[in-house]
Amino acid sequence: MAKKKIVILGAGYAGLTTIVRLQKLLGANEADIVLVNKNDYHYETTWLHEASAGTIDPNRVCYQIDNIIDSNKVQFVQDTVVEIDKENKKVILENGELTYDYLVIGIGAVPETFGIQGLAEHAFTITNMHTAGKIREHIEEQFAIYSKEAEPKAERLTFVVGGAGFTGVEFLGELVQRVPELCKKYNVNIQNVKIICVEAAPTVLPGFDKDLVDYAVSKLEKKGVEFKIQTAITECTPEGILVKKGDEIEEIKSLTVIWAAGVRGNPIVENMGIETMRGRVKVNLDLRVPGEENIFIIGDGSLMIDEAVNRPYPPTAQIAMQQAVTCAKNITALVRDQGQLENFKADIKGMVCSLGHNDAIGLVFGKRLKGTPAAFMKKVIDNRSLFIVGGPGLVMKKGKFKFL
Ligand code: FAD
Ligand code: NAD
Repeated sequence: MAKKKIVILGAGYAGLTTIVRLQKLLGANEADIVLVNKNDYHYETTWLHEASAGTIDPNRVCYQIDNIIDSNKVQFVQDTVVEIDKENKKVILENGELTYDYLVIGIGAVPETFGIQGLAEHAFTITNMHTAGKIREHIEEQFAIYSKEAEPKAERLTFVVGGAGFTGVEFLGELVQRVPELCKKYNVNIQNVKIICVEAAPTVLPGFDKDLVDYAVSKLEKKGVEFKIQTAITECTPEGILVKKGDEIEEIKSLTVIWAAGVRGNPIVENMGIETMRGRVKVNLDLRVPGEENIFIIGDGSLMIDEAVNRPYPPTAQIAMQQAVTCAKNITALVRDQGQLENFKADIKGMVCSLGHNDAIGLVFGKRLKGTPAAFMKKVIDNRSLFIVGGPGLVMKKGKFKFL
């Protein structure tokens, strides 16, 4: 019988964890495995707020995919997926095409702009290494220009963050750490820097424990962040943003708007001709697309309901990596014709939100953490994801060990 061909799209948390598992589970003679990714490196999406603010060396955030895969079992193709043609079991790439027997889609999410005018054109997003680099360089450039301007513009040092979810808050934590360094480097008075976070909901970190949210807000406010709560960004222009609170509309002038207000599934999946909700596919419990026996979607592109709260699980690395484990087992069962597939069961260990390198809040195994213990836990989590993919070697190379 001909060997089955497994194609995995995306080398993020979902795709790379699937590969690592599959190359352990399957022998080289059992299947042909192909991994496709835009870049020849994986980046830790969960560290992008640091790369964006410039509080971590960007090289620390990435590692080469070649160092992770077993080239006897997995062929790596560096290319960009353009289209998935499920009728003909084909993936169209920028530079070619691939056929598959089993497909795993792990190409993640894109920023959700909710159709708000001007955001796509004028705002920055914390999405990948490229966008993180743009933010980091742009912020530093504003300080450099401001320090030399004959008539310094206040909006040059006004930084707006749209959304006070986990991404917005974690970025703010890094930004308040970075700003004093930039002020020193460019001889700028820190009093001239404004950091404004605009959040549409009635609270920062909606849905999170109030006591912990209060702690985070008070810590960030002390470091200069101004929160505008129950205030929605309604437009972004080259000069700044328009916000709406009740019936009142206000303009905030800023040359730096970071949009961190959520994600939707990758449009490539939306264009496949299957039902999506905000670009995510409600997959079956075995992680396959309804009606598609040979296509799995995992990570941010998938949607599953958390029965305990009757809401979809939030798109997180934690879920993506857990799904990958089930997905690899299920593909192995299909390749070996072993019948019944396993249902995915999430095991949510908690959530930690950093507030810079040495501070954080979190709920872990039901326990509330704040300050140093939470920051310690955040680094443990960061190191754990390296360990799952690359073992102790990768942790030693890229891990976070400075705890204070
Ligand atoms: P990704 O990790 O985004 O990987 C997608 C991969 O697909 C990338 O390698 C990308 O290059 C590749 N790709 C995309 N499009 C194409 C294409 N067309 N062709 C080829 N390749 C493509 N979650 C947590 O659980 N804990 C955290 O602490 C946490 N912190 C976060 C901090 C930040 C700043 C952000 C932005 C998110 C954070 N998240 C966190 C959420 C988490 O990062 C995502 O849920 C997770 O990355 C999803 O994994 P994924 O594999 O689906 O997608
Ligand atoms: P999110 O959806 O969690 O939060 C987005 C925030 O933007 C919400 O609070 C929303 O009210 C606000 N918002 C929406 N429209 C707005 C508008 N027009 N104006 C102002 N505010 C607006 O999105 P996120 O923070 O990008 O996170 C995405 C996913 O990644 C989530 O699942 C999150 O849990 C996960 N994540 C986890 C961590 C962590 O565990 N440490 C860190 C970052 C992200």
